[in-house]
Amino acid sequence: MERVNLLDLDRDGLTAFVEQLGEKRFRATQLFRWIHQKGVADLDAMTDLARSLRDKLRDRAEVRALPVVSEQASADGTVKWLFDVGGGNAVETVFIPEGDRGTLCVSSQAGCAVGCRFCSTGHQGFSRNLSTGEIVAQLWHAEHALRRSGGERANANDTPARVVDNVVMMGMGEPLQNYGALVPALKTMLDDHGYGLSRRRVTVSTSGVVPMIDRLREDCPVALAVSLHAPNDALRESLVPLNRKYGIDELLQSCLRYLDAAPRDFITFEYCMLDGVNDSDEHAHELAALLRGRVPCKLNLIPFNPFPASGLRRSPRERVLAFARVLQDAGLVTTIRKTRGDDIDAACGQLAGEVQDRTNAQARLVARRVTVPISSGVPR
Ligand code: SAH
Ligand code: SF4
Repeated sequence: MERVNLLDLDRDGLTAFVEQLGEKRFRATQLFRWIHQKGVADLDAMTDLARSLRDKLRDRAEVRALPVVSEQASADGTVKWLFDVGGGNAVETVFIPEGDRGTLCVSSQAGCAVGCRFCSTGHQGFSRNLSTGEIVAQLWHAEHALRRSGGERANANDTPARVVDNVVMMGMGEPLQNYGALVPALKTMLDDHGYGLSRRRVTVSTSGVVPMIDRLREDCPVALAVSLHAPNDALRESLVPLNRKYGIDELLQSCLRYLDAAPRDFITFEYCMLDGVNDSDEHAHELAALLRGRVPCKLNLIPFNPFPASGLRRSPRERVLAFARVLQDAGLVTTIRKTRGDDIDAACGQLAGEVQDRTNAQARLVARRVTVPISSGVPR
């Protein structure tokens, strides 16, 4: 019988599991804190956990971390992990420091079925959904590995301070096409007995899966980022094929519904700047007309991270600045994403899709030299 991966369970799930074993509910909270707050995987090290529970868990459950294929640290403090998810697939997780804390960019799928033209993950096709445990394992590993390596962060009572204070689901994959696994992972991130992240510091980024935007609002209304990339349907369809199913108007309406429950929130619209494709002043004016006064939002312009198969180029810096100016003049809060971790090719979702063949993973890591800077203009 395969052991239950305890990282697959949010606290409600763990409570149900512990009750099934004939143990008291509060034991689940204890166990959850050992795993997520203390980063302990070894059940025998959980000293104040009833021996009866530990004995029952030993044969039935485990904390199944993801094997690390590689870990790279950039001169600017960015850290990138490549995790083996089996079957020749790997996913990428990136930590972007800001001060003594930072943002973790997490993957939701191996590959992606949406197939956006400018995205190397999309070009690799879809391999499979990650489980809740595989999504949570990225945060579990990053948080506790970083805490261990930064001993000086420890505060007076010897509890190491939290390192990851912001999570963005902007790694590989479309999180809203892996909804069932996503929601318990988000709940674990928000749980006070888990990672204790605030609702506004966990961001789901989506290419626009409208029905699931509506469900997320009901189930776990975290911050929402929408990958827009174009001001009209014709252009967006050519970049984000999903637009054929859910057009811009329908998408913006779902954004408004999303904000209904949280009137002080806003949507972050991401816009990847592609030279000669979506970056003219006319596009900027069209975008301003589309959004102004309609959706409370912020715009985040992303410099395109080129890769050969895309046949696309990054917009020149001056073009990005001019584009931003049009939007700002129209009263839209607009930021340009900084690039980070250039020296380790650290861009969420850019590298791991290449690792189809595990035996070649390391070789390809070394061989790959396409510059894919990492995003850091995340909503905070
Ligand atoms: N699937 C989700 C989340 C993962 S992609 C989504 O599409 O939103 C995270 C962000 O990276 C998205 O805004 C996506 O459009 C952007 N992105 C993908 N490929 C890129 C590239 N080559 N250069 C710059 N941004 C890219
Ligand atoms: Fe998938 Fe997002 Fe890449 Fe589009 S941009 S292919 S939705 S990961």
